[in-house]
Amino acid sequence: MKDQNFLKERNARAIWHPMAHPADCQKNPPEIIVAGDGVSITDIDGHTTVDGVGGLWNVNLGFSCQPVKDAIAAQLERLPYYSIFRGTTNDLVIELGDMLAEFFAEDGLERAFYTSGGSDSVEIALRLARQYHKIRGEAGRVKYFSLKKGYHGTHTLGASVNGNANFRTQYEPLMPGCYHIPAPYTYRNPFNESDPEKLAQLCLAALEDEIKFQGAETIAAMIMEPILGAGGVIVPHASFMPGVRAICDKYGILLVADEVITAFGRTGAWSGSRLWGVQPDLMTTAKAITNGYFPFGAVMISGRVAEVFESDTSGKGAIGSGYTYSGHPVGAAAAIACLKETQRLQVKDNAAARGAQLLAGLQALQEKYDIVGDVRGGHGLMCALELVSDRTSKAPIDKATIAKIYRGAYEAGTMVRVSGNNVILSPSLIISEENIATILAGLDAGLSQV
Ligand code: PMP
Repeated sequence: MKDQNFLKERNARAIWHPMAHPADCQKNPPEIIVAGDGVSITDIDGHTTVDGVGGLWNVNLGFSCQPVKDAIAAQLERLPYYSIFRGTTNDLVIELGDMLAEFFAEDGLERAFYTSGGSDSVEIALRLARQYHKIRGEAGRVKYFSLKKGYHGTHTLGASVNGNANFRTQYEPLMPGCYHIPAPYTYRNPFNESDPEKLAQLCLAALEDEIKFQGAETIAAMIMEPILGAGGVIVPHASFMPGVRAICDKYGILLVADEVITAFGRTGAWSGSRLWGVQPDLMTTAKAITNGYFPFGAVMISGRVAEVFESDTSGKGAIGSGYTYSGHPVGAAAAIACLKETQRLQVKDNAAARGAQLLAGLQALQEKYDIVGDVRGGHGLMCALELVSDRTSKAPIDKATIAKIYRGAYEAGTMVRVSGNNVILSPSLIISEENIATILAGLDAGLSQV
C-alpha cells in the first residue's frame, strides 16, 4: 500500500465519487477503508467498525467468505475471460444458469440473462419488456410505470423510472414515456393516509387510474422494488405487490421486480417477490449474487416471457443487447460459490431473526430520541430511521446534524449509511446477535450527540 500520508493528502483529489459532490468530497474526505473481516471493516487509521451497511446492501456473506474468494482465484487461473456473445459460452454460465433456475423456480423464473450489475440488469429488463410486446405484435406498448421513491440505478432508462429527483434533475430530459405512481410510503404521502392497508389501496387506485389515462395498449411494463431500498426502506403493505400484479395482468402489462437488493435472502425470504407471494414476469438481480466480490448481475425471465421469445420465428426475438462482461467467467464462478454458500447457510433465516432484533432496537431508539420520526423495516435486514427536526411538522433534519450522528456512530464502532434524512441499515446476513447490539449501541452514541 502507498504511504498513509500520500493517500490522505490525495484523497478525493484525483477522483470523483459516485453519488457525491466533488467539492464536498475534497472538503470532507471519505474514510479510506483498507480491510474487511467478517462483518467489520477497518480504516487507514486502524479504526474498526461493524459494517451496518453490508458494503452497499451486497456483502450478504461478509468480508471473509473463503469459498467465493477461492472460486474467483481459481477461475482467474483457468479462464480469466471469454465472451458469451453468440457462438461461444463457458462452463460456468451454464452451471450457474441451472442453479439460478432452480433457486428462482418458486418465483416462476426459468432463464437468466447475465449483466455486470444492477443498473445493467434494469436496462436489460426494461428493454426485454418492450421487445416482448413487439414480438407479440403490440409494438405500441412502449411506456414504463414505476413508483415515486423507487430506485432503479443510473443508466438512462433506470434514471427515467427512478422516483427521486436527486438522481434525475441534472440529467433531464430523460426517456419520454415514463410515469411515476405514488409509493405506499406511510410516513409521508399525498393522501395523508397513515394506515398501510388503506394507503396501499389508494396507491393501487392511482396506478389503475394512470393506466386508464395513458391507455393500457401504450404501456410495456411496471417496474418496482418489493421493498423500496435506497428510497429509505419503504415497506408496502402485504396487499400492495399482489395488487400491482393483478392490475398488470388485467391490462397486459409486464411486471418487473427490481430485486437488486432484495434477492438472495435480504428480506428473510429468498426473494422479495416470494415474500409477497407474487410471481414477476422479469426480475433484476445483482449485488449479493457474488457477495459484492465481483461486478455481476442477472435478469431472470419467467417461463411465460421466455416462451414468447423462444417460439418467435419472425426474427424479432433476437436480443440486440448485451455487455462485454455479460456472463464473465470469473463473475459466474463467484456467483456459483456464493449461491452454494447462501443456501448452505440458509442466510434468509438469520436475516429474519437478526432483522427482528435490529428493528426492536431501532424502535427503542425512537422512544429515546425525538428526532427519530419514523422507523422502518420488519422484513429481514433492511431497516431505516427517518430523522426529523420536529415530529409534528416532520421537517427533515438538516445535513450537518445527520453528519454529526454518522460521525458519532462511526467513532463508537458502527458504520451506517446516510441517505437524505434517512439512516439506512443493511448489514451482512451472517451477522451475529452481538454485532447487531454493537450497531445499535453505535447508533445510540451517534444520536446522543445532538
Ligand atoms: N436497482 C436497485 C433496486 C438498486 O438498489 C440498485 C443499487 N442500489 C440498482 C438497481 C443499481 O445497481 P448498480 O448500482 O449495481 O448499478
